[in-house]
Amino acid sequence: MSNEQAGIAALGERLERVRAGIADAAGAAGRSADELTLIVVTKFHPASLVRDLAELGVRDVGENRHQEAQEKSAELADLDLNWHFIGQLQTKKARQAARYAHAIHSIDRERLVDALDGFEDPERPDRTIDAFLQINLTDDPGRGGVAPDGIEGLAERVLASPLLRLRGVMAVAPIEEEAASAFARLAGYSDRVRSLAPEADAISAGMTHDFAEAIAAGATHLRIGSAITGNRPDPR
Ligand SMILES: *Cc1c(COP(=O)(O)O)cnc(C)c1O
Repeated sequence: MSNEQAGIAALGERLERVRAGIADAAGAAGRSADELTLIVVTKFHPASLVRDLAELGVRDVGENRHQEAQEKSAELADLDLNWHFIGQLQTKKARQAARYAHAIHSIDRERLVDALDGFEDPERPDRTIDAFLQINLTDDPGRGGVAPDGIEGLAERVLASPLLRLRGVMAVAPIEEEAASAFARLAGYSDRVRSLAPEADAISAGMTHDFAEAIAAGATHLRIGSAITGNRPDPR
């Protein structure tokens, strides 16, 4: 076996192990794994790793930096992948991200929606982008996400956008709190969004160390990186 084949084999094993862990957590929560979308977070890894994942059947990949996501999605345009943008998005980069993003999980302010709304894809005028409201589960405004008292206003703004399709909420569990209690709060915020938009029932939550707690709390979109990709290289 070449080094490259050995690398793909190891990647495939880790992917299967995570898929099995997801199935166990879903079973324990009385849910079906079919309700769950696994997004493999490939940030800092080369495009070649994303290609290997695609070969292993992965369709949904997550990136948190615009320039890197733009480069990789262009390099891998021959693959039928859904690119999920999961990081802080600068207003001035928003329209560029709209070109490749299938979903944006980090909608955290109305000005970002204003910027995205200026985007038009001449080749696909009817295209929409799935939007998740990122909610800050801490009291520190420096962390990403809209504060809970801004949820309804932001949801209404996204619902008025012709480009964005409101799918639900997203959050990262704070390090200083038990994931289960943080995700229970997120489920309550999801209820608030669904009372405005019943179809916006998705919950993007759960990473390498807390996906089981997220599944127990109702997560529908898991963003899992290092458990599948191995340790991340240093950012470029
Ligand atoms: C990096 C990242 C992940 C994946 O983290 P892992 O711990 O490697 O699974 C998920 N969500 C966001 C927002 C991230 O930035």
